[in-house]
Amino acid sequence: MPRELDGLMQPRPLTIAHVLERAERLFAHKHVVTAGGERLTYGEVAGNVRRLATALDSLGVPVGARVATFASNSRRHLELYLGVPATKRVLHSINIRLSAEHLEYIVTHAEDDVVFVDRGLLPRIWPSADRLPGVRHWVVLPDGTDEPIPADPRISHYDDLIAAEPFEGSFEDTFTLADEHLASGLCYTSGTTGRPKGVLYSHRSTILHCLGTLAAGLIGLCESDVVLPIVPMFHANAWGLPYGAVMAGASLVLPGASADPAHLLGLMEAERVTVAGAVPTVWASLAPHLHDHELSATRFLLGGGSAVAPALSETYRAAIGVPITHSWGMTEISPVGAIGGTRTQHRDATDDELVAVRAAQGQPLPLVNLRIVDVETGRELPRDGQAVGELQVAGPWVAGGYFRVAGDGSFTGDGWLRTGDLATLDAEGYLRLVDRMKDLIKSGGEWISSVELEAAISSHPGVAEVAVIGRPDPRWMERPVAYVVLRDGSAATADELLDHITPMVAKWWLPDDFVFLPTLPKTGTGKLAKNTLRDSARIA
Ligand code: ADP
Repeated sequence: MPRELDGLMQPRPLTIAHVLERAERLFAHKHVVTAGGERLTYGEVAGNVRRLATALDSLGVPVGARVATFASNSRRHLELYLGVPATKRVLHSINIRLSAEHLEYIVTHAEDDVVFVDRGLLPRIWPSADRLPGVRHWVVLPDGTDEPIPADPRISHYDDLIAAEPFEGSFEDTFTLADEHLASGLCYTSGTTGRPKGVLYSHRSTILHCLGTLAAGLIGLCESDVVLPIVPMFHANAWGLPYGAVMAGASLVLPGASADPAHLLGLMEAERVTVAGAVPTVWASLAPHLHDHELSATRFLLGGGSAVAPALSETYRAAIGVPITHSWGMTEISPVGAIGGTRTQHRDATDDELVAVRAAQGQPLPLVNLRIVDVETGRELPRDGQAVGELQVAGPWVAGGYFRVAGDGSFTGDGWLRTGDLATLDAEGYLRLVDRMKDLIKSGGEWISSVELEAAISSHPGVAEVAVIGRPDPRWMERPVAYVVLRDGSAATADELLDHITPMVAKWWLPDDFVFLPTLPKTGTGKLAKNTLRDSARIA
């Protein structure tokens, strides 16, 4: 009877402490730039992380405790990204745009022991402090603002705290983790349907996610890159870009709180950013200003969180020679599961075919498995690019459950995560999202994809932003309605938009109405808040 044979390699754990050690040893000279002109080396950052480790001990923050951040993308936030997990505590990054109710719910649910908060964000969270008695310490992070700091014994100042703490331990004693399965981070899902749920990452899942996204041919971060995560560090680990950049030894540019296009594009130009990531609404806001900046250093733009309309990606390709590459993911997937773009088999493709390939959400990262199943029967569907089913995902950086939630229906009996996305997979492994199950429009027994309609409408040059939702209809059940924001100077009318999309979609997909608005409502992570639109359509 043949026996399986064990390998004889070292079972060394995969930990974030190693990322810190590597940055200190190999990349101490590389820079972290924060908006406002602050420029520190990884060597200096690592020194601060050592002092932060001592400070957390002095505050009596136990191992395994949740340490929250309520902060924009900055060098101090990066120090917490490294120092909190590397000392066996758990980094809980909180979305700064949550309502007070959700905020108080998740801080209480996570049992946060300490909250590190940007000075300028104090007004958004301090009013909740008395309803959060479990938080023993509030530490203020300087952010260039002069927001008044309340006189309260619970409050301390980050720079004072770490300045007072010379690091005297040894790196090994302070940062060595024996177990890669320890929790490293905690992020809550947005809670657009029901209560927010916590996704508890481990050191192992975080490192593997990093290596998966670092792989050449995907994002392929390398030492010569200058990486700008515009996607917030409070949103799903900023797509792994901060840890990935530190691991690769790339320079990091952290843009602070401002989403002003001139600020972001100015940083890209001045720092010669090579790789940047943002949600499509941010890319759309930068698009009209691309020609005002010299962006020749840029080699890769990542867009995700919601579908990147082909017209938007093409605008970037035309202006700076770099399209926006899709990344598909979820908070539950650390968050990246698939990355788009063309491969060698597309070398001879026509321009139109290439646009269609780029519109796909891409191929799964190494170690990630995708399948689509029939929503009703749960049967797996063929990978033929035609069959539409619910997308399910499995892999070593995919959640297997939620923090302190028992028996959640989000997981299948064989342990796959149900994504709530409807998609096709083709024979080459390309994933194409059709819609979120809850955003699909049901009209007369047939489905209409809001994503496809949005892509068609946004290809009109006068359209800056568009959201399509289903409006209740007595005859058809639902009919599509498009909410449109026009570009400055455009006077496009509903008839003009209808004419524009008529050749692109089936006749019965044409929206019943176009509603023109000055802005569209957004969720905390910058996605279109379709629930808000659906509510107003129901009332109207
Ligand atoms: P939420 O949007 O609920 O806050 P996430 O940020 O985790 O939570 O979003 C996950 C969802 O975002 C996915 O299930 C999918 O519907 C959508 N999404 C993410 N990336 C893409 C993409 N590249 N294209 C289209 N939809 C995307």
